[in-house]
Amino acid sequence: MNIVLLGAPGAGKGTQAKVISKKLNIRHISTGEILRSEIKKESALGKKAVKFVESGKLVPDEIIIEIIKNIIAGGKSENGFLMDGFPRNLEQAKMFSNMLDQLGIKLDKVINIVVDNKEVIERLSKRVTCSVCRRVFNKDDNNVNLKCPECNGDLVKRKDDSAEVIEHRLKVYEKETKPLVDFYAGKGLLVNINGSGDKKEITERIMEFL
Ligand code: AMP
Repeated sequence: MNIVLLGAPGAGKGTQAKVISKKLNIRHISTGEILRSEIKKESALGKKAVKFVESGKLVPDEIIIEIIKNIIAGGKSENGFLMDGFPRNLEQAKMFSNMLDQLGIKLDKVINIVVDNKEVIERLSKRVTCSVCRRVFNKDDNNVNLKCPECNGDLVKRKDDSAEVIEHRLKVYEKETKPLVDFYAGKGLLVNINGSGDKKEITERIMEFL
C-alpha cells in the first residue's frame, strides 16, 4: 500500500507515520528526517539544506525530488511506502505523480491529519525529540530530566521549533502545502482525519480508512 500523509507542522504526521508504517510493514519516508540526518552528518546535501530547514523555508524542489527519486528507484519499498512531509507543494506533487506513473506505481490513499492552529502551535512549542530513537514527546510528559522514557536518550528541541520559525512554517504550510488537499481530493484519494486527542485513537481513526 502506498500512502501520503498530509497535515500542518505539528499535526502528528511523524508520530502516526512511525506507528502506521510498522503496522502495515511499509517503508516510512520522512524528508524532514532525511534532511536533519544529512545536516547532522554535514554532508554536501546537508550543507545545501541547512539554511532552509533552520529558517522554516522549503528546501528547493530539485533537491527533494532527487532524494525521492533515489529512494523509489532504490526499490526497497516492496510492500509500499508512507510519505511523511512529501510532497510539500503542488510542483512536488505533480512531479511525484509523473514519477509514480512512469514506474507503474499507484498511490492508494492520502491521509490529511487535521488539527486547529492553536493546538498545533502549542504542540510545536512543547515538542522534544529523542536524539537516539527519534521518538517525539511533549515536554509535559514524563520526561522532566529531558531523557527519553523509552531508551533514555537525550531529548532535544528542534531548531525550527522556536516561536519565530514555527510562525513562518505555518505560513509556508498555508500557502504551499494546503493546496495539496484539493489536489488529492480531485484525484479521489483524500481522507480527512481528526488529529485531536489521544495518539492511539488517532491511529485507529486512520487505520479504519486503510
Ligand atoms: P518536517 O520534519 O517535515 O517538519 O520538515 C522540516 C523541514 O525540512 C521543513 O520545514 C523544510 O525546511 C524541510 N523539508 C522537509 N520536507 C520537505 C519537502 N518535501 N520539501 C521542501 N522542504 C522540506
